[in-house]
Parts: sequence; structure tokens; C-alpha cells
Amino acid sequence: MKHTNYYDVLGVETNASESEIKKAYRKLAMKYHPDKNPDEKASEKFKEISHAYDVLGDQEKRELYDQYGEEGISGGGGSNMSPEELFASFFSFGGMGGGGPSRQRRGEDLVKPFNVTLEDLYNGKTTKVSLQRDVVCPSCHGKGSKSGATRKCPSCEGRGIKVAMRQIGPGMIQRINTSCPNCDGEGEVIREKDRCKKCKGIKTIEEKKILDIFIEKGMQNNQKIIMQGEADQEPGVETGDVILVLKLAQHERFERQGNDLLTEVNISITEALCGFSKVLVKHLDGRGLVINHPAGEVIKPGAIKCIVGEGMPQYKRPFDKGNLYVKFTIEFPTDMWISPDKIKQLETLLPSRKVEELSRPDVIDEVHLTEGDFSEYGNKKAKGGNDLLLLWIFITLEENEPIFVFSIN
Ligand SMILES: [Zn+2]
Ligand SMILES: [Zn+2]
Repeated sequence: MKHTNYYDVLGVETNASESEIKKAYRKLAMKYHPDKNPDEKASEKFKEISHAYDVLGDQEKRELYDQYGEEGISGGGGSNMSPEELFASFFSFGGMGGGGPSRQRRGEDLVKPFNVTLEDLYNGKTTKVSLQRDVVCPSCHGKGSKSGATRKCPSCEGRGIKVAMRQIGPGMIQRINTSCPNCDGEGEVIREKDRCKKCKGIKTIEEKKILDIFIEKGMQNNQKIIMQGEADQEPGVETGDVILVLKLAQHERFERQGNDLLTEVNISITEALCGFSKVLVKHLDGRGLVINHPAGEVIKPGAIKCIVGEGMPQYKRPFDKGNLYVKFTIEFPTDMWISPDKIKQLETLLPSRKVEELSRPDVIDEVHLTEGDFSEYGNKKAKGGNDLLLLWIFITLEENEPIFVFSIN
């Protein structure tokens, strides 16, 4: 069972990507940082967020947490960093994607896996995906204030950067530049009274958006569907893309290689010898493919036949299709007793016996076939020179697939 508490604290799904976790932490840590929120509750919340991020932001700790919960990580020891230090190091090591007042010009892309079936890729599909994203506040148009006026941040004197000290060992102190928490590294702040009521001066608000997804015929596993400019918005920054990566689930009947398909079918020995006319394959669009196989043309065990033009559609040219390969397994009757006079009849119909025999040595023994238990194979230990010799004969239809096993003692 997955433990979810830390995920809840950060407000992310348990399958959230690394960047989603980072983003959630960044947002919450900014919001509840004690510099901005002097009250007790915010400070508690800040600690909670920091602790959750300390675990989920680390691949190894996250795996342990998923599996064993908090107990799983308490043994291995949490971070030695205090919430403040974690915050400082996060914003100094690229957590902001550059940080400081000189923001990057393009926002991050949001990459998400998207599960599809082979049916989806064969038939094409229109579907929807809902996602939560930041949009520039429509009320203040991203200014964060009613008047649009800002003033220099008193905490960092407009530089957007603060210098923090971090103890890294006894007597060792590291100076690190961190993004100013008072102004989110922007160097400017908005007067409390002037703040936009809708976004509370943050300049963006969260929005739930439903996107239409078109899965086109012939798309491949891991192919990307790019929706331009649908990622988080930020004022003054080019919005990144939402990128869905198709993840093809394994199919129970078909295997895909390029635009070709492979399927396995079972037919009886009678059908293999005498021909058949029946629905042999149920295709990915629900059609049944009827095969008329004439009598007289024997299908051998393991034979692979091809149906031209019944494979996957070509991406962007859906009327061009690959081929469908059909691999045959021949079912022998289990437990069938044939009477001696029928045997005689059967022999007249079947090809004649193999006449060649191993050349007869001077000494021969007559031996018997019994039902063998193949799980016993190899259990007769060599004890001395006089043990029974165990031999096995496999009659196989296909490679590596023993159908009848007999032992000779
Ligand atoms: Zn606003
Ligand atoms: Zn500042």
C-alpha cells in the first residue's frame, strides 16, 4: 500500500513527477515561509511542508516512504537540514530554475505519461484530460496589485537575493545566495492594501482546465502529444507546453512490431489436416476475420502465415496498413483412445512410417514408456556405478514445448 500523507501535505498525486513535487514545494514554501507569515500556524505548516519535501524530493527516501511510510525513513535518518536550510538550499540550487530577478524567458514544460491501449492506437480516439495549472490572474493581468505600483523590497533592497549562512559541519559555515523569500526573488513588493484580491499579489491563480486529446491512428508507444502553451503561465514568461507521452499497455492477443501485428491461434489437429472455414481472429476494431483454409494443405505446428493489410494503420496515412502475422498452435487430442481397427484405417490415410532405424547394436533391450513426472527430472542422484540409468524422451510439437513425456527405467 502506498503511504499518502506527505503527498497530501504537498497536495500532489502519489504518481507526481519530480518536477511536480518541486513545484508544489516551491509554491507552498513561499506561501508559508515564516518571513511572510509570522503566525504560529503558518510556521507549523512550513515545517510540515519542508519535512514532506525533504522525503519526496529525494528518490531514495521517496521509495522507502511509499513502501514503509514514515517508519521506513526514520531509521535511515531524515535530513540534517532545518526547514530554513532546506528552503535556502532549494532556492540556491536551481529550484527556481535560475532564481533571482532575471527570470528565464520560457516556462517549464509539463510532461505527463498517458496510458493507451492498442485498440486506441488502431482505431484512433478522442478523449479529455483535466489538469490543474497556474494562469495569469485575469483580475490584475499579472501585476499583482490594483494600481500596478510596486516598491523596492526592503528585505533584499531590491536585489531579489539574500545571503544565507548554512552550517555544514562543526565550525564550517557556507554562504549561499538564496532567492529572497519576502519578494519571491523579484526585488519588488506590493503594498498590503494595494494587493489584488483575487490572486493576493501572487499574480497567478490556479485553474482547472480540460484539454481535448486526439490520439491518431497508428501512433506509437512513447510518442509525444504536444499541446503548445498549456503549461503553467507566469507573467512575462513564455508559457511551456503540456507534453503527453503515450504509454501502450500490453495486449492480450496482439503483439506490435512497427506497423505489423502478430497473434497466436489454436486449431485442432483435424483442422490442421482437413482445413477449416471460420472466424480465426477478432481484430482490434471488433471485426472477425474469417479464414477459408482449403483441405489438403496441412498447417504444421508453429507455422506462421501472413494476412496482408490487416496490421496497424500507418501514422498520418491510416489507409496504409501493415500486415498481420498468425502463428498456429496445433492442439492434439488429450486422452484419446483409438481402437485398433480405426488405427489401421488411419494408417492408410497418413504418410507411411519412417523406415530408417538406428543401426542395431549387438545387444538390445526392450523397454517401456510410462507416464513421466518431469518435475522429478534430475532428482535421481548419482550414488555409485550401479544406479538405474534414466532416459527421457520428449515428443515435441514445437521447440521447448514437451507435449508427451515418457520415462524409460
Ligand atoms: Zn491578481
Ligand atoms: Zn526581496
